[in-house]
Amino acid sequence: MTVSAPPDVTLQARQARLLRVTLWVMCLYGALLGTLNLTLFDDPLIASFDFGLTLLAGATLFLSHRNGRLQLASWLTVGLLIAVLSAFIAVSSGGNYALLWVTVLPPLAFFLLGSRHGAWVTALFFAAVLVYIWLRLPYFQPRPFGIATLLNFAEVMTALWLLYRYSEKTREEAWARLRHLSHTDPLTGLWNRARLDEALAQSLALGRRSGQATAMLLIDLDHFKVINDSRGHLAGDGVLTQLATRLRDTVRGTDYLGRWGGEEFVVVCPDTPRKGALQLAEKLREAVAARPFQPDIPLTISIGVAVTDGHLTAAELLAQADARLYRAKAEGRNRVCG
Ligand code: GH3
Ligand code: MG
Ligand code: MG
Repeated sequence: MTVSAPPDVTLQARQARLLRVTLWVMCLYGALLGTLNLTLFDDPLIASFDFGLTLLAGATLFLSHRNGRLQLASWLTVGLLIAVLSAFIAVSSGGNYALLWVTVLPPLAFFLLGSRHGAWVTALFFAAVLVYIWLRLPYFQPRPFGIATLLNFAEVMTALWLLYRYSEKTREEAWARLRHLSHTDPLTGLWNRARLDEALAQSLALGRRSGQATAMLLIDLDHFKVINDSRGHLAGDGVLTQLATRLRDTVRGTDYLGRWGGEEFVVVCPDTPRKGALQLAEKLREAVAARPFQPDIPLTISIGVAVTDGHLTAAELLAQADARLYRAKAEGRNRVCG
């Protein structure tokens, strides 16, 4: 039973990527609009604003590449966007639903600046926009709904779609990674005790309803302390990792294998009666004793097996398995007791 790790995408790496994309879009947008305003619309004043945007976005991009100060670059980028949006609102005088563009600020600001700074920056900007509109009400001239309006809608929708998709994907990946880490033993990559507890409770609940048996195998390395003492802890860790692989290769896909703690491992087997559980335990014991671990460390395991048809609690099942493991140790180790 294995859990594959989700990709290690840090929030910072994601923020840096969104930052670069946003700055590149600003750069290119400014250059394109500047060229159009200069050549087609003969408006050098607006064109100089556009080229100014390209320059500032390019400088921020350069800065973030040079010194890698993500936070500073994020603030500059949000500041630039606010400047562009403000200029756009002023120039459009309320026409063609240009005000829709203010809605692209929150997803970007929250993602780049975090929830606290994102919240107050967008709240302040929105308040300022409302005050500005209120002051300019007599001068605003809505234009008829036309192709330019449609374009504004389409562009804003596309920008929001991209931004929300990006931030939600990041959130989902971060959540999956967190969940994976909270359930995984860092040394062996197996499930940890918390996840095993969940699996055991689930299997017992299912057993109570359906009458199916749940088996629990408590596995303990024999004389493991000697390995640590004679070969060092690093070699001991290596053995634990190799043991995890060997156990994983032997259990069935429907069994739940995890590290209970220290040099103890647990297998929870849903829908497995005593006979099957003892067979599996014997198979595991043989797989470990069959050949030494690297570098030439012979080892054995002892296993306590307990089975219930759902009438025992998890604690009672564990106590039984523990008592049987103790017996296996007392009877000479390298054996299964069930
Ligand atoms: P027994 O056959 O009675 O189980 O003997 P043992 O030596 O295996 O048992 P004991 O409980 O005395 O020692 C367990 C050892 O496991 C002691 C501890 O140093 C070692 N151990 C526990 N966790 C780790 C780990 O993460 N890495 C390493 N290298 N050693 C660990
Ligand atoms: Mg032990
Ligand atoms: Mg031991």
